[in-house]
Amino acid sequence: MEKLKFERPVINRISAGVPDKFGMGTSIQPISHIDDVAVQDLLEKYGSPLFVISEKTIRKTYKEALSAFKTRYPKVQFAWSYKTNYINAVCKVFHQEGSWAEVVSGFEYAKAIANGVPGNKIIFNGPDKSREDLKLAIENGTLIHIDHFDELYDIMAIAPTVGKVAKVAIRINMDTGIYPQWDRFGFNFENGEAWSAINKIMPDENMELLGLHTHIGTYITTPVAYSVATSKLAALAVRIELKYKHNIKYIDLGGGFASKNTLKGAYLPGSDTCPSFDDYAEAITSALNNSDIQYEHMPTLFLETGRALIDDAGYILGTVLANKRLVDGRRSLIIDIGVNNLFTSFWYEHHIVPSRIKQRDTEDTTIYGPLCMNIDVIRAAVQFPVLEKGDQVVIKRVGAYNMTQWMQFITYRPKVVMIDLQGNTHVIRENETHETMNSMDRIPGYLLDFKL
Ligand SMILES: *Cc1c(COP(=O)(O)O)cnc(C)c1O
Repeated sequence: MEKLKFERPVINRISAGVPDKFGMGTSIQPISHIDDVAVQDLLEKYGSPLFVISEKTIRKTYKEALSAFKTRYPKVQFAWSYKTNYINAVCKVFHQEGSWAEVVSGFEYAKAIANGVPGNKIIFNGPDKSREDLKLAIENGTLIHIDHFDELYDIMAIAPTVGKVAKVAIRINMDTGIYPQWDRFGFNFENGEAWSAINKIMPDENMELLGLHTHIGTYITTPVAYSVATSKLAALAVRIELKYKHNIKYIDLGGGFASKNTLKGAYLPGSDTCPSFDDYAEAITSALNNSDIQYEHMPTLFLETGRALIDDAGYILGTVLANKRLVDGRRSLIIDIGVNNLFTSFWYEHHIVPSRIKQRDTEDTTIYGPLCMNIDVIRAAVQFPVLEKGDQVVIKRVGAYNMTQWMQFITYRPKVVMIDLQGNTHVIRENETHETMNSMDRIPGYLLDFKL
């Protein structure tokens, strides 16, 4: 008979935060497979750590969101928020599903064009559009969402030189009951700034005002804020109709729907508190349907949802590097996933589990990344089973903002792999290497040699 492995008894004071209504939740479900592909096989084949994207989850989530809106309001168009995840293969899945592109820089604009999105199906947001960007956008018939007066004046000056009417919308910030209020982007609704921007655009024959846009914030858990925003945009559309006999073609509610991740300090898990797409859709479409916009001129509803469409589809897999006992007796675990690759660990209590559980006992554990930096903490305190060096872990819901905000710091950025609908895996982004990193450095001649 094989000798059983010794399991060290554990008695420990628990300091992993306050219990929620279900107690401390010590039962941990391992994740051994993603879309039927074994975590162990993925790590063996592609190295550790590794980002994994489930194409199935992207398409399923997108269809859910689209149907929540379409069943309530037929004229709906999503535009994929590039900054949320601009790995080209991910963008292409959204484009195949019918999503346009929403970009916030010249770099993202070039990416969308290179991905094959027609210029007139790109929404160009953000405070930083160079004159060259604006010229190109006007030429391509791109929807330019004006952020501030200086940009408006730039367009006024550039459009006549291009010889094409610039297709514009304005971004509007407003009080929707969400505080702190985002007032740094766009023109304010309440103080009349938005109205005054409209009154500058409307008489200008080189600009056509097609839409009204707002993006009220991110991780908004109160759908009613979207009703307020929709009503305010609709009221502006009515006012424009009254004064100029001009019908707004679209109203764009931006992004900001929450994902199921749990924010730090939250009492209940995000999967319990996050509103559904139906909740958001009901709030927005009923405000639109109940507005005074004339029935035959109902605008298209644009949505730039990012986080809520991609978070669930992303995983990061990693490996335990070491176990360590801290001076106060707490256990700590060092894994090869650091905050450089998992930027969202600064504000989420990420759901991390082992790929398999050998021992049921859990212990109050701090999970550190591999960086030689005190801030490199993946979970400050979590009830976690005792793992050994070489064991594997899975963090789920990391599809949003990590594969764009990751930074090259101390370690290389890892590969990203997509699992397609048939369960085949594809590398959709290579890892960095010594060569790729060094390829951008330049050394002045006089520094080439040294003797030590
Ligand atoms: C970031 C951003 C989005 C996407 O926001 P999410 O919170 O990820 O849904 C949409 N529109 C604009 C203008 C943005 O800046």
